[in-house]
Amino acid sequence: MNSFFIEFRDPLFSIITFFLIIFIISFFSYWYSKYKNSEDSKYLDEFLKQFRTLPSKDELQVLISSGELSEKSWLLLAHSYSKNGDYEKSIEIYNELLKINSANKRETMFLLGKTYFKAGFLERSKQIFLSILKTNPRTPQALNYLLLVYEYMKDFQAAQDVLEPLDELKKDIRLDSTYLKTLALLNEPKIDPKEKAVQLLSEYKNHHHLAHMIYEYIFRVDPALAWENFDSSKSEYLSDILWNLDLKDLNLDIISQNGYLRELYSAKSYVSMAEGSSVFEFDVLIKLQGKSNATLSFEYICDNCKVVYPFVFNRCSSCHAIDTARVEWSLTKDYYKDFSEENNSFQ
Ligand SMILES: [Zn+2]
Repeated sequence: MNSFFIEFRDPLFSIITFFLIIFIISFFSYWYSKYKNSEDSKYLDEFLKQFRTLPSKDELQVLISSGELSEKSWLLLAHSYSKNGDYEKSIEIYNELLKINSANKRETMFLLGKTYFKAGFLERSKQIFLSILKTNPRTPQALNYLLLVYEYMKDFQAAQDVLEPLDELKKDIRLDSTYLKTLALLNEPKIDPKEKAVQLLSEYKNHHHLAHMIYEYIFRVDPALAWENFDSSKSEYLSDILWNLDLKDLNLDIISQNGYLRELYSAKSYVSMAEGSSVFEFDVLIKLQGKSNATLSFEYICDNCKVVYPFVFNRCSSCHAIDTARVEWSLTKDYYKDFSEENNSFQ
């Protein structure tokens, strides 16, 4: 019977005890390291969460009033939020900064007005700029933005009124004035479209600006009038409008007298008046003779800030310069032709 039990002094007992101790130590060591890792990861997750979620309005209030960060740091943070399109957070920071005794109150107000404008809160933006101008009437930056706000609100008379103080500050307002007058005429519902076209043309002959804006309208409402008064020096600049005209609206007499138009409409396969072109895209399309479904696509570059837009603009939404769009074209697949051929195949 005694042979089934291991004696206390038996060497086997010592070996079993040794391995048991090693097992217990390894077991606890394994679970402790697992627990430690999960705690570390939890802490890191909690820490990183602070950067993923933005501080709430109340948290901002406490942080800004505590003065732990300098005003400049808050302005930089607000600017960075605004640049990333988070206008709401940027506006909250500016508003909180204005509540404390800010050393840069006028600058903060200007930045707040600018952010309201970018976010599309035009009425609030207007109130901010008017309030800056009430105490500091000779602030051209605020006047410029107030002009933009009135323009976006389609209050063209108020925008024209802003030009007066800008003129007094020796700013060149001629192009702004022409642009606002043209916009006001285009948005005037009481004037007949054909009468508007005549008035726009008469204005254009005086200043020779905003050709794209003016000819786009005239070609749309009265193509015959546009061709009769066509400014051939702007042919290249108006390429996209000319390219998209219907065949029935062309004036072949004028086209046949203008080398650029002959090449453009030969590339479009409306006429056959050129055998080639110095413009690569036109040359390829002329050689293809309309046998492939290739066409031109257009994009617009602001000559002032070099931002590229897929649509035409009269005032650049990035730098706010007027009449700086330069049209550029490239060869592309004619999806419209594909679509119309597919539709015809079902008939
Ligand atoms: Zn621009």
